[in-house]
Amino acid sequence: MSEIVRTYEELEQLVQKTYKAPDLATLRRAYLVAKNAHEGEKRLTGHDFISHPVAVAYKLAEMGLHLNVIAAALMHDVAEDSDVQIETIRTQFGDDIASLVESVTKLKHSIRYRGAERYAENMRRMFLAMASDVRVVFMKFADRLHNLETLYGQPKHKQQRIAHESLEIFAPIAGRLGMSEIKGELEDASFAYLFPKEYERMKNIMDIKVREKGAYVSRIIDQVEKLLSHTGVEDFQVHGRVKRLYSLYKKLNRYQGDLSKIYDLIAIRILVSDVEECYTVLGLMHQQWRPVPGRIKDYIAQPKPNGYQSLHTTVFTENGEIVEFQIRTEEMHELAEYGIAAHWRYKEGSHKPVKHTHWMDELAQIQKELQNKKDFMEQLEIMKIDVFKDRIFVFTPQGDVIDLPEGATPIDFAYAIHSEVGNKCTAVRVNEVMRNLDTSLTSGDIVDILTDKNRRGPNPDWLKFVKTRHARNKIKDATARSVSGWLAGVLGRKK
Ligand code: MN
Repeated sequence: MSEIVRTYEELEQLVQKTYKAPDLATLRRAYLVAKNAHEGEKRLTGHDFISHPVAVAYKLAEMGLHLNVIAAALMHDVAEDSDVQIETIRTQFGDDIASLVESVTKLKHSIRYRGAERYAENMRRMFLAMASDVRVVFMKFADRLHNLETLYGQPKHKQQRIAHESLEIFAPIAGRLGMSEIKGELEDASFAYLFPKEYERMKNIMDIKVREKGAYVSRIIDQVEKLLSHTGVEDFQVHGRVKRLYSLYKKLNRYQGDLSKIYDLIAIRILVSDVEECYTVLGLMHQQWRPVPGRIKDYIAQPKPNGYQSLHTTVFTENGEIVEFQIRTEEMHELAEYGIAAHWRYKEGSHKPVKHTHWMDELAQIQKELQNKKDFMEQLEIMKIDVFKDRIFVFTPQGDVIDLPEGATPIDFAYAIHSEVGNKCTAVRVNEVMRNLDTSLTSGDIVDILTDKNRRGPNPDWLKFVKTRHARNKIKDATARSVSGWLAGVLGRKK
């Protein structure tokens, strides 16, 4: 493995090419501060240390992030590795750049994988930092991705620690935020170091499958496109998606290594404009090909707890080959791939066609849109607040992060964990103190749900204060079930 080494000149060229009237003087000053601070320092890959912050800045510039973020990225390691103080940066570069450098530096000290007991605290700190300024997340992810690219230079035990951290802390955070794209990148890069043999094995499996099935899948895609073009469905996109290696590995383990049970090695995604069309397309697919029993999943009517929506079905095609289809709207697709970041786009209004690029490229796009529309101060407020404005992050006593809409209650939390936890919920401790079930939770709360297994079901009064659709649906379901059960009991006795 190796990486592309970027020079500052390349960074400057990129910035000049893609930014409108960039403040190159500030950028160069930031570079010189970093270059000075890291003078004589080497990375274990043998490259000058400065190549690292330049690479991180380059990634962020590719995303089109504001120049303050790029400048801060150039200096993101100076406060730790040299005598340069945050206060000096503040005097020379102003509050905004200094506070970005400061946040990233603070995170660096707090996020370390030290076994399960520290996991909760790590997650908590990371999330709270993110919630205060989402730009820090981008810097942190860009930093981590470059460190993974250059991991080959590290001694073995460090490779293990960094890969472990990425897999155990960073990837789940990306996952909790619904950023499946970045989660996948982090997982696969770590997987290669943590389980090299298994990684190779998965890679071989996928290589073979793609070779075997590639032509066949493109034929099916053609067929689907033809089929759809003869119907009222107008805007649609059909494309194949190949399963990521780590995700395949986990699934194979769940199926005792039986590859024949995994139907989504290569799946076909169909994107349409609205929910109605999703169901229309599902019907069309089932008319054309016989569905495999028990494999139709309606995550539109019943979204997964993290909000994922889609219709899934698996069908037998001509030669008895089995193919999985994932049918969703473009909006659902954006949320599935880019998570919380996708919310920006909608708030900005204009609904543009979705480009199927990586998550970070998408962010770049969003960023550029912001840049065109707002002056910098307004933009900053959007970046700092808007994305997380209507979300809170709360924790289980084990340290799992649950994200919920603002104003969510312990009941919403309980149903987000599992419907049975919701149905059997009797009381709650928030930060070790007993609270009412309709208490509004706030970011950082540790929520401990007390359940009673003999409880018959949810209290219909909960419907008056729950905030999530998920909880509301589950309460209604359970209430309906218990009423019909009661009715059956009553009618049964009458006979
Ligand atoms: Mn770094």
